[in-house]
Amino acid sequence: MTGYPHLFEPLTIGALTVPNRIMMGSMHTGLEDQDDFTRLAAYFKERARNGCTLMVTGAFSPNAAGRLNAAAAAFDHADEVPKHRQVTDAVHAYGANIILQIIHSGRYGYHSDIVAPSPLTAPINKQPPREMDIEEIETTIEDFVLTARLAAEAGYDGVEIMGSEGYLLTQFLSPRTNQRSDDWGGTFANRMRLPVEIVRRTREAVEHGFVIMFRLSVLDLVDNALLEPEIIELAQAVETAGADILNSGIGWHEAPIPTIAQAVPRAAFVSYTARVKAAVGIPIIASNRINTPEDAERVLAAGNADMISMARPFLADPAFMAKAADGRAEEINTCIACNQACLDRYFVGKICSCLVNPRACHEAEMLPARPDYRRRVAVIGAGVGGLSAAVTAAERGHEVTLFESEPRIGGQFNLAKNVPGKTEFRETLRYFGKQIERLGIELRLSTAATADDIKAAHFDAAVLATGVRPRLPDIEGIRNPNVIGYVDVLNGATKLGSRVAIVGGGGIAFDVALYLLEADDPSFTDPDAFRRRWGIGHPLPEIEPSYQITMMQRSEGPMGRRLGKSTGWVHRAIMKQNRVRQISGVRYERIDEQGIYIEVGGVTELVAADTIVICAGQEVRADLAAGLTASGVDLYVIGGANRAAELDAERAISEGMLAASRI
Ligand code: NAP
Ligand code: SF4
Repeated sequence: MTGYPHLFEPLTIGALTVPNRIMMGSMHTGLEDQDDFTRLAAYFKERARNGCTLMVTGAFSPNAAGRLNAAAAAFDHADEVPKHRQVTDAVHAYGANIILQIIHSGRYGYHSDIVAPSPLTAPINKQPPREMDIEEIETTIEDFVLTARLAAEAGYDGVEIMGSEGYLLTQFLSPRTNQRSDDWGGTFANRMRLPVEIVRRTREAVEHGFVIMFRLSVLDLVDNALLEPEIIELAQAVETAGADILNSGIGWHEAPIPTIAQAVPRAAFVSYTARVKAAVGIPIIASNRINTPEDAERVLAAGNADMISMARPFLADPAFMAKAADGRAEEINTCIACNQACLDRYFVGKICSCLVNPRACHEAEMLPARPDYRRRVAVIGAGVGGLSAAVTAAERGHEVTLFESEPRIGGQFNLAKNVPGKTEFRETLRYFGKQIERLGIELRLSTAATADDIKAAHFDAAVLATGVRPRLPDIEGIRNPNVIGYVDVLNGATKLGSRVAIVGGGGIAFDVALYLLEADDPSFTDPDAFRRRWGIGHPLPEIEPSYQITMMQRSEGPMGRRLGKSTGWVHRAIMKQNRVRQISGVRYERIDEQGIYIEVGGVTELVAADTIVICAGQEVRADLAAGLTASGVDLYVIGGANRAAELDAERAISEGMLAASRI
């Protein structure tokens, strides 16, 4: 008996019974697009081996037109079956089940021959789609069915038919994108014909026991899309057509409302799943921003869903299920919803990984090897880079001492976790704290180690992870009392005047503005407040900013271009809602008690401000490097101490892990 009675109850899906209520939902990692499936099989195997009993693959298209991009995977030919067998065999070896997701991108495809019900270009894709003719619609149905048959032949336990998030089937469903006047458009019965036909004909084509999951948009979040009665009608029609289970999709990709970013409260959308649940006889899965066993248990206990889908949380911790089952949830490496190393990487053509778990999607290459003998390792600095190094070294069997000059672990994460929407960063610190305890790492807080200390204690190896110090730009008046650094703002140490000028337009400048403007806003944690704030079922509210903020940068062009693709737009939208002024291409002249004087386009301007906050990047803090090198210790310099420019937690954690793997 675990602490999660609902979560570990079996669930029957058609003829399949699974022993618990958590599914690893589909997450396209890019491994699906490779010719060789060794890495994909290793990725799923690691999750199956650790107690995940039901998982869904990333996206596979039923034909070339449906691909996500020109290099993305289709599963439309029997030649592909053997490589898929590698995946299903790896999963079945541990008694787990795996379902293949079939997706047709429609107008969301990034390649030259994309199709849609009507020739309307998507706001998130420059490429105009070609209108499908009736023959192509028929062929597409057959292609879906063929992919399902190939999936069965390859050993998959079922298919998930992707009918949400604004992809082709959603495009047919909605008057927003379907303006046809034939049998495939117009009335709702006609608009839902394509998804329903696909389910019906797939059911006819596959054996009893092969699961058909349909992912349904329970909330579209775009104008001129489906209303609740239509969503319910579709769910019932899909059930009648032969689906065994429904999965919840939230929002189209073109929706101007966050659906999976940190700005979304946990389990914010389960009420929409619950409404469909009440109207169908088959189980339904809830998804989006459910990242802990506690939250999953709560949703199930409330009767809002029959199962929970988590995708990113299984990237962050492949042993999520095993830890939950063993009552070790405190040891789960929780997904912090940053999207930085997963979605944002895929969007730039890279294979996904995970910020808090750099081994994700590298399971086949990054095998945890035992060193030939146990070394004594000093890690200096307990920011996330140092923590990652210390934990990896200790897991490999080394004796680790972790030095930290501050009275707590976490470094810059202690500031970041105060930013609205970034409270998930606390989970990472909880995880590392637990690992320190579990692995018996000696933690010396409030201890500024010196090179002499390290030498005197005869450590075999040292990892220098002392991070960065904020840059103080050379501007006249920079030491005036009305100037403060971002650290003092984000740790809440200083009270600011109501007019604030921010020097810098990078990630931390956005964080500071967000912290000032939104610190008390409940929309980051309370689903009702979130709905009101983003105008879901309410009129879009007029926001009265608590600070009058001006952000500045010397470089030209819009601010925040280096923020993640999947989350930066949310930050930019919040700045716009709060009427933050952003000035690019400035030259800083001087600061006085009136504010900061800048030159833009040859004209000098006073940006009147009570407080000027400096967010001008960082410099390397590696004062110990020379002394440690001279001491002859085997030295590894990582994270900000190695390179301050463009430092982020992803690089720090990954460098910490890689350095410790070499010791
Ligand atoms: P950053 O993103 O590199 O931005 C530094 C800012 O300082 C730039 O806007 C730069 O603009 C300005 N700057 C640099 N040198 C300056 C100087 N001498 N005088 C005046 N301004 C100067 O660094 P950050 O904002 O400190 O963030 C640190 C790292 O954390 C970055 O990698 C960032 O991506 C990451 N981070 C990410 C997020 C996120 O939401 N994804 C949030 C926080 C932090 P100009 O040179 O144009 O003036
Ligand atoms: Fe979660 Fe961030 Fe890892 Fe993606 S990169 S799985 S969002 S923690």
